[in-house]
Order: sequence, then C-alpha cells, then structure tokens
Amino acid sequence: MIHRHDVIIIGAGLAGSRAAVEIGQVADVAVLSKVYPSRSHSGAAQGGIAASLANISKTDRWEFHMFDTVKGSDYLGDQDAIELMVREAPETVIEMEHWGCPFSRTEEGKIAQRKFGGHTLEFGKEPSLRACYSADFTGHVLLHTLHEQCLKHNVNFYSEFQALSLIFRDNRAIGVTAWDMVNGGLHTFYGRAVMFGTGGYGRAFHITSNAHANTGDGLALVTRAGLPLQDLEFVQFHPTGLWKSGILVTEGARGEGGYLVNGEGRRFMEDYAPTLMELAPRDMVSRSMQTEIDEGRGIKGEDYIHIDVSHLGEQKLMERLPQITELAMNFAGVDPRIEPIPIQPTAHYSMGGIPANPNCRVTYNANRDETVGFYAAGECSCISVHGANRLGTNSLLEALLFGRRAGKQIVEDLPHLEFPNLPADYEDEAKGEVEKMFNSTGKEKVGAIRDELQKSMTLDCGVFRTKEQLEKQHTKIEELEDRFKHITIDDKGNRFNTDLLEAIEMKHLLSFSGAIVEGALQREESRGGHSRKDFPKRDDDKFLKHTLAWRKDGKWELTFDKPVVLEGVSHKGFEPMERKY
Ligand SMILES: Cc1cc2nc3c(=O)[nH]c(=O)nc-3n(C[C@H](O)[C@H](O)[C@H](O)COP(=O)(O)OP(=O)(O)OC[C@H]3O[C@@H](n4cnc5c(N)ncnc54)[C@H](O)[C@@H]3O)c2cc1C
Repeated sequence: MIHRHDVIIIGAGLAGSRAAVEIGQVADVAVLSKVYPSRSHSGAAQGGIAASLANISKTDRWEFHMFDTVKGSDYLGDQDAIELMVREAPETVIEMEHWGCPFSRTEEGKIAQRKFGGHTLEFGKEPSLRACYSADFTGHVLLHTLHEQCLKHNVNFYSEFQALSLIFRDNRAIGVTAWDMVNGGLHTFYGRAVMFGTGGYGRAFHITSNAHANTGDGLALVTRAGLPLQDLEFVQFHPTGLWKSGILVTEGARGEGGYLVNGEGRRFMEDYAPTLMELAPRDMVSRSMQTEIDEGRGIKGEDYIHIDVSHLGEQKLMERLPQITELAMNFAGVDPRIEPIPIQPTAHYSMGGIPANPNCRVTYNANRDETVGFYAAGECSCISVHGANRLGTNSLLEALLFGRRAGKQIVEDLPHLEFPNLPADYEDEAKGEVEKMFNSTGKEKVGAIRDELQKSMTLDCGVFRTKEQLEKQHTKIEELEDRFKHITIDDKGNRFNTDLLEAIEMKHLLSFSGAIVEGALQREESRGGHSRKDFPKRDDDKFLKHTLAWRKDGKWELTFDKPVVLEGVSHKGFEPMERKY
C-alpha cells in the first residue's frame, strides 16, 4: 500500500513529535513509530531538561550553559550549534509550560530546577541549579504534553509501523518503506520531506539503560542509502545503572545530594574531581567508578559501587525521586530509604549519529554539503551539540529544541520541495530483506547472536578500550555478521511477527556496531566518552576532528577531516583547555 503525505517523520519521541506539532499546523504530516508514540524512550527520561531560566540560581546565563556544554563535550561539540541550543533553551521549555506540562514548582510557583553534572555558574566556579524537572518523570510529562499538541494539530500517526528502508535517490530523500506490525505487509510512505527522529542505539550493549526499541534503525537505514555516520565511537556510559540490569538511576539522585562510595566505604570521587565530586560530568564519574572496580575497590571486591540516598529522608525521596525508589526496590531488591543502591556504568546515550547541521538538514561530507528534503533531530542525529560527551539534561533539550527547529525548517522549505516521483524499485530493498527472512532455513538463532554482540560490546568496547580489545571486537563482529547469514526465524506469520522484526533489528545492530568499533580503533586518543588505555591523552593536533564513516562493500571507510566549529554564532567561542572539575 502506498501512502502520500507532505511530510513523513519516523519517530514519535520528543524530536519527531515536536517537529510534527510545528508542521501539523500548516501541512499534512505523518508520524511513523514502531512503538505506541507515548512509549517512545523519551518517556523514560527521569532527571530533567536544561535551561538557564535562573529561577533558583539567579545569576545563571546562557553563556555559562554554553561554556559547560563545550567543556563537557571535551571540545568536540560544534559551538555554533551549542550556542543556538543554549540561547533557545528557555523559550523552548517555557513553551512546554504554556502547553500545560506539569513541571515541579518552586515555592513562588516557578519551574523548579535542580543540580546536574557539569552544569555550573561563572564558568565552572560552583554548581548551577539548571535542570527543570517534574519529580523523576520529566520525559514522561514532556512527551505526553507534546502528544496532546500533536492530536490538536491533526498529526496522522501510524503506530506500530517499523521502517525498513529509506528511499533516497540523487541526493534526495523521497520516503520510507515500513512493515505493518499488527497485520503484516509492506507499506510505502512518500512525501516532499522526510525527517528521522529515530532515537539512540544503546541496545548494541549488554548493560544499558535503553529501551528494547533503541536499536539504531535510523542509522542503519542511512548507511544503506550510502550516507555517512558521524562520531559513532562516542558512546556515553552513565555512572549509575542498577547493577546487572543497567536500568537507570537518574543523575538527579546525585543532584539532590546522593553520593558514591566504594568497597572501603569512602567517597572516592574526591580523588578524581575534588571540586564537583559526584557532579563531575558522566564520562569522568564512570571512568572513576570503573577504575575503583578494576583495582578491586568495588563493593565486596565485585563489579559494582554504591550510591547512597538514604540520608535524603523518605519525604524528599518520595517527592523528588519516587520512580528510582521504586525501581531500586523492584529491580535491585534494596530499599533506598534505608540502604545504598548497587550500581555500575551503563550504556546510556549515543553522541554520534546522522550528521546534520543546526537547521537539521542532513549533510553528507566533511564540507557539510546538504542532502535535499532530508532532516534529522534528536538522539539519532549528530548536530554535535554534545561532541564527545553529553551533559545530563542536555539531550531532552536537544531532542525538543532541534525537533522544533526541524519542524520550522521543513515548513520553510516545503514551498520549494515538489512531490517526488517514486522510483520503479522503491520497495525492492525491503521486499528482498523480508522475503529472505521468511525463507531462511539456517541453524543460527537471532537471540544467541544478539547476546554475543551485546556482551562483547560491553566487555571490549566499553568504558575503557585498548587496541587489542577493539581488534578482538572487530573480528567478533565480522564473525557474527557471517553467522547472521545463516539464521532462521521460526514465526512465518504476519500478525505481530516479533521474530521477523527482531531479526531485522539485529541486522541493524550488527551493521553500525562495526562503525563504533572501527571509530574507537582508529581514534588513537582519549576524549570524552571514548577512553583508550593505550592513548590516555587527548590529541587535538590529530583528532580535534569529527569522524565520518561510510559502509562500502561490507567494510567501513573512515575519515577524520571534518573540522569542529570552534566559534559560536555571536559568541567568539571557547578555546580547548584541559578539563578539570
Ligand atoms: C532511562 C533514560 C533516562 C534519560 N533521562 C534523561 C534526562 O533526564 N534528561 C535528558 O536530557 N535526557 C535523558 N535521557 C536521554 C533522552 O531521553 C533521549 O536522548 C531523548 O529522549 C531522545 O529523544 P528522541 O526523540 O531522539 O528519540 P526517542 O524518544 O528514543 O524516540 C525514538 C522514536 O523512533 C521510533 N523508531 C525508531 N526506529 C524506528 C523504525 N525503524 N520505524 C519506526 N519508528 C522507529 C520509536 O518508535 C520512537 O518513537 C534519558 C534516556 C534514558 C534511556
């Protein structure tokens, strides 16, 4: 079946939904989502969304937010995009307030704000209360508020449709093919503009805070269309995942005063970041924790650390952190009101993604030349506001704010974009893929391959990396790709065929995991979330550059010649310095 709309958006998280609100007011827009829209991973976000509203830290300013974000990014963030983000943050958050988003409040009735890692006043002097929040359900309330706005503006939702291929010809995005998960069958969606808001790729790892749906499909579709991916080796490991499951304990827990202790009962962060302690940026806290664990100072010598929030008292925990209190009880069997929570670093956020400029147009080379009618925003994109390491609460902001920017840009561009003609082979790629899966008769099982990929990625491409580990992982992925050719799926039916869709997601995971590993191998330095034990220093001479990775004939080709933007739009920019906290 063929569907025609002015604009086709893939993804109903904050990025996709926010763009749809903008477009729905003037044009016919369709949003496809493989999960029910309000179940997108944005809804799981707990801690907050950054904006220098200065409701509590009265002297806060966008310049401080810009400095923190640039420094947090280990200077790999593009400073023009960062300036736009921090300047537009307050109006973007207040707009949500006006649409009825139930934020927590200060006593005077303003949006409440809390501390988060790496956010400071006066260029690093002291922590700033910059994270706007709604208890520890911030993503949930933002997403639901946006969904209401989408319904108000007649956005067409295609819920439980899984995009399988991007139709991209002569530098122009035309549409996508998608599988109808409920009834089965291939559908084609085409339009004058296509936007990806497909979210992150944390599911490439075994210990992760990400939803099962975060399999980086958008990235895989883009590489298959011959376009590059950017900075994929920069994966954020969040310090406080529940031990063994990786389920998130928000950084808000530390923002509210929770602290970390090792097996000796000591607040070890004083050895690593004496000024900000537990509120140093995530890459640093994760490395510090991992070092304690690796050197035998985990709790009982095991691979976990404790976060203690019990001193905050029951009332504060129930008011500010009710979700993590419940999660700790249900998934770690501890009661945070009276005992510490066992935690370990967890793969959390994908700094890399589909290269796009601050207007959210997808670009395809180191010169930042633009594709036509193709946009990306949110976690799947790499507009590079986070560079090598994202600060907490900057990604809800990024998704919402660049979703808004993408929507406005598409509205502006639509009069110049005719409806494209569908090429004759528009569904061949997806049809071939589905048929191959249905006819598969091999002996390999998708679940086993996924398990091996995720465990080996966590082990050999994790918080710390070495050449030997990465080469081993490179070989592992080649082996798994080979085995994947011999899989079989048991369910050959049409209704809710999760067997089929998981196999396709597995193919995606395998395809871009190679780029994470290859980037990590070739980037012989340590910067932000990418930490090489054999190259422990940042190397600005060689690597103050974005990585671009193309998939060609089953191999990855990488370049390191895309310059980082070191100047803001109006601000002169911040020179790379040593990062101390
Ligand atoms: C547990 C957790 C807590 C977090 N807490 C915070 C926080 O407090 N503050 C903060 O700033 N950030 C936080 N983050 C990060 C932040 O939530 C995300 O980066 C952000 O919400 C991503 O939004 P998005 O719109 O890009 O993608 P998502 O919300 O992940 O949405 C992706 C959408 O794409 C759709 N999709 C994907 N593939 C396909 C396909 N093949 N076909 C059809 N649809 C598809 C999905 O159905 C979904 O609708 C947290 C993340 C996690 C995992």
